[in-house]
Amino acid sequence: MKMEPEKLELDEIVDATEDELIGYLSELVRVPTFVPPGEYYEEIVDLLIPHLRDSGFRCERIVVPEEIVERMKEDVAGLSGERVNLLATRDAGNKHSLDIYTHLDVVPAGEAWTTNPYSTVRSGDRLYGRGVADSKGSVAALMMALRIMNEHKIRSRYNLRVALTTDEEIGVYSGLCYFADKGLLRGNYLLCMDGDNEGVCVATNGVMNWEIVVNGKACHSSTPFLGTNAIERAKLVMDALKRLKERVERRESKAPCSPFMTRVTGQKHIKPVFNLTMISGGVKENIIPPSCVLRGDRRYIPEENEQDVVDEFENALAPLKSELDFEVHCHPGYPPMYTDPEEEWVKEVQTAASAAFGVHKPVTGVQGGLDVAYAVQKTGQPVCAFGVGSSMESNAHGADENIRIEDLKNYVKFLIMLLRDR
Ligand SMILES: [Zn+2]
Repeated sequence: MKMEPEKLELDEIVDATEDELIGYLSELVRVPTFVPPGEYYEEIVDLLIPHLRDSGFRCERIVVPEEIVERMKEDVAGLSGERVNLLATRDAGNKHSLDIYTHLDVVPAGEAWTTNPYSTVRSGDRLYGRGVADSKGSVAALMMALRIMNEHKIRSRYNLRVALTTDEEIGVYSGLCYFADKGLLRGNYLLCMDGDNEGVCVATNGVMNWEIVVNGKACHSSTPFLGTNAIERAKLVMDALKRLKERVERRESKAPCSPFMTRVTGQKHIKPVFNLTMISGGVKENIIPPSCVLRGDRRYIPEENEQDVVDEFENALAPLKSELDFEVHCHPGYPPMYTDPEEEWVKEVQTAASAAFGVHKPVTGVQGGLDVAYAVQKTGQPVCAFGVGSSMESNAHGADENIRIEDLKNYVKFLIMLLRDR
């Protein structure tokens, strides 16, 4: 591949700032923004503000109101502290504006780390620490890209709105959802820096959690005919769910999945997913169980809609009503997301990502959900997600989360190539 002179120059500039880039990331990792509880949001926002001001941004702390936080606390245990988010804007008088988003919270460290999760440790060609890939690496890269553009007088082709928000990892109502509801996302396009660097993601599944409570009647286990065994009766529900699962998972979206997924599963497009993931019931070995609770999730493709998904679920269980006492509860979460891969904006991101990483980045979809889907359902913005880490190697949400220094640097180049005026 022949390098353009400009790319070589950019390589040199980014190489020269490697230590400072790692320094930015270390500062961010040191603030333990894990949620729950999410107690250090104000600290991380305060740390970012001077950097963004130096790059010419107007910064605003956006705090989610108490009454919304109270409602979140009903769904998620252990939240505490103010829900502080950052909105930074820079209007350079351009025709188009771009919103850039990712989240500042991380999942708790968990067990089995071989390094201190809240300090950035360099080993070989990688950096280790909670959030280096998901998603503080992209925040550090953005700080560096903006600084380089400032120092080298590289003009941005967009007016920028940077939304660095919190509570993404609890999956209920994130800071970004609040931004969308308050009308704070206004760009012609939206770049989501949360995700992986294997492809430019244009599609995600929607999520619906469900719960089924099967009721029985407790009695002494030596005279089971006097009661109703809720666990044994739950088998009928499980059989119905199994049939529903088979039907649901035969469907396929038009959105492509990642090359990795194709390699592992043979599938070429994203699919709906249906899982039974939790089961609980019973009191004691010698008591006939009075109830059994089944829980799981249903992830639905962009071509399906929430109401149909709920109806289908309830209809699949309806025939059991005559022989079984049970209740069904559906809890819809984030909607699906889909941006046409032919959108000009997707091509822009794909071109910059491919050039910066020196390898073709395909357009992909994922079977998980994103809070961005909620946001763009409100705003209608064309969105795609391209992140800094590797879904295969970074072990996001696990022990020893890591990132290649090369990927971090390439991400700085990606941002500059995407933003600079051409
Ligand atoms: Zn993330």
